[in-house]
Amino acid sequence: MNRDYFQLKNKVCVITGAASGIGLATAQLLAEVGSKVVLLDINEKNGKEVEADLNNQGRSARFIKCDVTKSADCQHVQELLEKEYGSVDVLFNNAGIIRRKSVVELEENDWDLVIDVSLKGVYLLSKYLIPLMAAAGGGSIINTGSGWGLKGGDQAAAYCAAKAGVVNLTKAMAIDHGPQNIRVNCICPGDTDTPLCRDEAKQLNLNEDIFLISSGADRPLARIGKPQDIANGVLFLASELASWVTGTELVVDGGGLA
Ligand code: NAD
Repeated sequence: MNRDYFQLKNKVCVITGAASGIGLATAQLLAEVGSKVVLLDINEKNGKEVEADLNNQGRSARFIKCDVTKSADCQHVQELLEKEYGSVDVLFNNAGIIRRKSVVELEENDWDLVIDVSLKGVYLLSKYLIPLMAAAGGGSIINTGSGWGLKGGDQAAAYCAAKAGVVNLTKAMAIDHGPQNIRVNCICPGDTDTPLCRDEAKQLNLNEDIFLISSGADRPLARIGKPQDIANGVLFLASELASWVTGTELVVDGGGLA
């Protein structure tokens, strides 16, 4: 059987936080199934490297520097995409940062930054790209939540608040934009081996390797996640295989929440 299960060939897929970790792995996977990937990140150097790597492999990739907390950047992306591609089919709102502090320890600017990148960024880019998606007849949006959007975690007050916000924002967006044939879902990763996760160890003054091993140890599948584990879930939600899935969250965490 030669069936194209994903139906993502030549689809325009926009990924935020695409220069690293989960966003990077997802960009590689979506490009592999034939999508045109648009890579958004504040890290221009790494973003351009990812763009060049993918294009050298014969894939279609385009990097645009974009800070998702900035309205003007998000609007600029909309304008470029309209001009260069004419539409958007998939939007993966994935950029996020973490500060491992309680409310007492958190400085106000850190609270604002975590909420701005991880929650407001989802709102802002969606605000500008949903009209393009709707005009093209619909699409799929995937927002990156976290296991800590569904339960609390220690010393991560702003992050837990932002990610819980993402989980319910996802449902609100699914309700508002279902009539435009836009599905909106959330992916909730557990601890995954990326620079963000390694940085958590530093913030907590813990040994990186021990932190990663202990983060995996108490899960039924007894290991930490790989960025590709999360990308596989995003591919499913982006694809036609998930054609009747909207307003929900897919937990990919080796059973950690169970
Ligand atoms: P990462 O640090 O490897 O990648 C995040 C990327 O986002 C970086 O390239 C960074 O430059 C970019 N970024 C940061 N601020 C930005 C901004 N304002 N505008 C645009 N890009 C920006 O991290 P990751 O682990 O791949 O995280 C991706 C997402 O997954 C985040 O939302 C994170 O909260 C979530 N998540 C990660 C884990 C984990 O354990 N790694 C677990 C649950 C959820």
